[in-house]
Amino acid sequence: MDDEKLIKEFIRTERDEDGVEITVCEIEWPTPSEPVSRWTVVSQLPLDASEAQIDTAVRSVLVDSRFFGVCATCHERNPNGWMHDTGDPANAAAL
Ligand SMILES: [Zn+2]
Repeated sequence: MDDEKLIKEFIRTERDEDGVEITVCEIEWPTPSEPVSRWTVVSQLPLDASEAQIDTAVRSVLVDSRFFGVCATCHERNPNGWMHDTGDPANAAAL
């Protein structure tokens, strides 16, 4: 999955009266057939943060190994829960 698509699908920027929150979708597999996604706040920026600052914060989430990694099989970056090489049969369905 290319980075722009990952950002669009798995990273959100939410602006409210307190500031700008960067949230990331974490995928977990409590059962092998059903993924559960959870939005976690990863960073908070001041309300007056510039688009460039927000972009930098979003891209730093993308390279954070807690959330994304490069797949050993296809060499694409994917959310951690979607790796091909985990041996989890659910991965095939997710991709
Ligand atoms: Zn892969």
